Amino acid sequence: MEDVIIIGAGAVGAFVARNLSRYKASVLVLEEQNDVGDVTSMANSAIVHSGYDPVPGTKKAYCNVKGNAMFPKLCEELDVEFEQNGSLTVALDDKQFAMLEGLQQRAKENGVPTRLVLTEELFKMEPNLNPCAKGALFCPTAGIVNPFTLTAHAFENALDNGVKLRLGEKVVDIKENGGVYSVKTTKGEYQAKMVVDCAGLHSAEIASMVEPVEWKVNARKGQYYVLDHFKLGFVNSVLFPLPSEKGKGILVSKTTSGNYIVGPSSEWNEDLDDFSTDAATLANVKEQATAMVPGIPFREQIRVFAGNRATPSTHDFIIEPLPHHPGFICCGGIESPGLVSSPAIGEHVVEQLIAPFLKLEEKKQWEPCVRKHVRIASLPMEERNRLIKENPHYGIMVCNCEKVSLGELEDELNRSLPCLTIKAMKKRTRAGFGKCQGGFCQPKVLLLLAKKLGIDPTEVKYDRDHSEVLEGRSK
Ligand SMILES: Cc1cc2nc3c(=O)[nH]c(=O)nc-3n(C[C@H](O)[C@H](O)[C@H](O)COP(=O)(O)OP(=O)(O)OC[C@H]3O[C@@H](n4cnc5c(N)ncnc54)[C@H](O)[C@@H]3O)c2cc1C
Repeated sequence: MEDVIIIGAGAVGAFVARNLSRYKASVLVLEEQNDVGDVTSMANSAIVHSGYDPVPGTKKAYCNVKGNAMFPKLCEELDVEFEQNGSLTVALDDKQFAMLEGLQQRAKENGVPTRLVLTEELFKMEPNLNPCAKGALFCPTAGIVNPFTLTAHAFENALDNGVKLRLGEKVVDIKENGGVYSVKTTKGEYQAKMVVDCAGLHSAEIASMVEPVEWKVNARKGQYYVLDHFKLGFVNSVLFPLPSEKGKGILVSKTTSGNYIVGPSSEWNEDLDDFSTDAATLANVKEQATAMVPGIPFREQIRVFAGNRATPSTHDFIIEPLPHHPGFICCGGIESPGLVSSPAIGEHVVEQLIAPFLKLEEKKQWEPCVRKHVRIASLPMEERNRLIKENPHYGIMVCNCEKVSLGELEDELNRSLPCLTIKAMKKRTRAGFGKCQGGFCQPKVLLLLAKKLGIDPTEVKYDRDHSEVLEGRSK
């Protein structure tokens, strides 16, 4: 029997697992998909929000501000790409400018530092902004993060510290008897003293397997454009319009990889698992983004994508035990800003709800850091040459668009966190993220995975079940 079973391997599950790995406890994570961070935690804006926006006094506000403060140290320990480049909420007319003071007041209540920036300084910071802009609210603690490595490296660290992970197992039923939870999956059945529900869009469904819940999760879709690395400094901070009841609005931002992201839209989606995009919504995203930054070169677009926010009917994160099952902890309705909040949620759940309940003892030794991941393209030439001398595979480029070497791919296949699919390799290393979207490197990644996993190339999956790329042998 496990001490704790965590259901769902997104960012929230990752930080619950990592925090639990500091204690003497047996922990098992169950994930339906074939990789960690394969649903909402990979399809978002990847902004480390400052926390000026959530309603003061809510769990969202608390976790956002606390999570934001944890990022610099955390990303150092987990070797995750992070830049604290600040955000600007831009007023495009006098009416909007007057509203910035209200936002600044809310920021003050949440304990978030801000500063009003007037036009002269604003255009120096962001020369490509609409010349009509009247000013902006600058939040220096906001930033950008690589959402893929954030979840993956947090899991790698948790696994290095003894947590177990089972991918490709969907939880289909949970029964409680005398304080023991039996969790049934598509492949087996497991027992635990406690269960943590980190199932994102499906968190209400999972909790309802144990007792009826009064809250619901609705999907609110967000659609995006991804642009290539066309120019350094096209935008420098994260640029937001003024927030509305629909959310934080359509932003224009660089990513930690130096390309650009524009979006997201905000529309209700009846199907929690529908991630399709549509031309009309994307045209609207384009129109709203160009109102703020008129010269966005959409010809540089290399991809569009969508994610679904797990919007709770309670309007706040649900982080609490079920009323009649104190051993079942819900982490439900973790919509935006859930990514930045996830380290604080993980800490709170473990330190306030799990450790006291199970009377857990901390380990004497716990390793907070992952072994460094080599990113050959970001190293100075001398360092590259040194590494290539040590291992010539760092000199063989597999992904030419994003400059990812064979050595980097091989390293990912030799870590505690399994890398089972083409998409998992893409998220870990960026091979396939560039202009050709895997046209050149995907066959090489596929063959490498087949060799490592000891399977036929026709069995290698792109991501989900039945997503094999090759149909069969032609000869
Ligand atoms: C458009 C958009 C923009 C966003 N922008 C930002 C942003 O800029 N900054 C920010 O901080 N936040 C942002 N967010 C929010 C953030 O992405 C989420 O809050 C966060 O990723 C939620 O993580 P999670 O672990 O709760 O959910 P998920 O990442 O969805 O993980 C849940 C996991 O549970 C698994 N699961 C579900 N059911 C089962 C089952 N039956 N059995 C086993 N496993 C199961 C799923 O497969 C999934 O892997 C955004 C979200 C969206 C959609």
